[in-house]
Amino acid sequence: RVKEKWAATRPKLPPTRLAVHHFDATCGVQLGQLWPSVRVAMLSERKYGALLNNFSHNAVLAGLKAQGCIDFIIQPGLEQKSSEESSNVCVKSSDADREQLSLSPNIKCLVFPRSDVTRFKPARPDMNGLLGYYLMDAASLLPCLALDVQEGHTVLDLCAAPGGKTLALLQTQAIRFLCINDSSVSRTARLKRVLHSYVPKAFLTNEKLRITSFDGTKWGEIESNTFDRVLVDVPCTTDRHSVMEDDNNIFSKSRTGERRRLPQLQLELLLAGIQAACPGGEILYSTCALSQNQNLSVVEQAIYQAREKDGIHLQVVDLRPLTRMFRNTFHFAPDLHLGEMVIPHLTANFGPIYMCKLKRLT
Ligand code: SAM
Repeated sequence: RVKEKWAATRPKLPPTRLAVHHFDATCGVQLGQLWPSVRVAMLSERKYGALLNNFSHNAVLAGLKAQGCIDFIIQPGLEQKSSEESSNVCVKSSDADREQLSLSPNIKCLVFPRSDVTRFKPARPDMNGLLGYYLMDAASLLPCLALDVQEGHTVLDLCAAPGGKTLALLQTQAIRFLCINDSSVSRTARLKRVLHSYVPKAFLTNEKLRITSFDGTKWGEIESNTFDRVLVDVPCTTDRHSVMEDDNNIFSKSRTGERRRLPQLQLELLLAGIQAACPGGEILYSTCALSQNQNLSVVEQAIYQAREKDGIHLQVVDLRPLTRMFRNTFHFAPDLHLGEMVIPHLTANFGPIYMCKLKRLT
């Protein structure tokens, strides 16, 4: 009798396939009827936005507009103008929400209109070697906008590399002091290269910013009750990358332990960010994952533990004005009871990005 040897010969699934299986099992339940369309979008080419670099002398804005791009932050209602009725409603609500949000006029991001999948050309250096724009998932800017940095603020970017959101925060030119941290030394080196490609040396001095590679979970012990704003953009399952790229994929078998430990790491980072904020300060938690375990559950746990262990009381800040304002550019998941999430859609293939904003009351 021949012994079956299927266990040894069964083909190994690549990490991308394992990721898709995982999401089918979990997101199908979580997103219900929305999952098939989110799935097909995640498996299709993503869309980028061009974050304009105010420090560059390259006049790229006119060129991008001539190609049909729209600054989705300045003109959030523009894409609806073809439908008269909805346009009126939309533009009015955008105006009211914009007043409520006090968004920085210095953050500008151009996107191709809905359903237009034109690719951006690589940015070119100006006479000082500074690049005209930074290509990123336009939905990644929402956490920076939601953070609501105001003139003179001190800001901590706890998990900053490779630096897209740091760059957006610097564009505001409102920050008094910016602490930029990432525990990975190699990724911090990449972040420094990004900053030097976009920001003049005069803005990168020790008086204006500090770049470190500490374990962010320890930040509360280093510097507590300090910052007006804290961005906690945590490591996560990077869902879009995980279904598209086998390289460096957190669903590979060798990284199973790391993947399972993510919610605990995310919780510790968020708690450290909460401790680092000053009373009255605001903390923005974000991921590029769809999973409730990495999003709402982490925030719920952090609110509970901050109160029980550290005596810090937090208020969840309503981000609906922001989602109303940008609902023509992004698809938002309906009815999340905590935070907001951009979900990928074929006509607006940004995200996923989850974000939740907390205000320290004590
Ligand atoms: N905010 C970045 C941006 O917009 O370009 C992306 C951040 S990425 C989602 C998460 C980062 O967290 C990674 O660069 C990773 O090296 C960093 N990280 C992981 N564990 C960390 C820790 N314990 N403390 C600080 N950073 C950590």
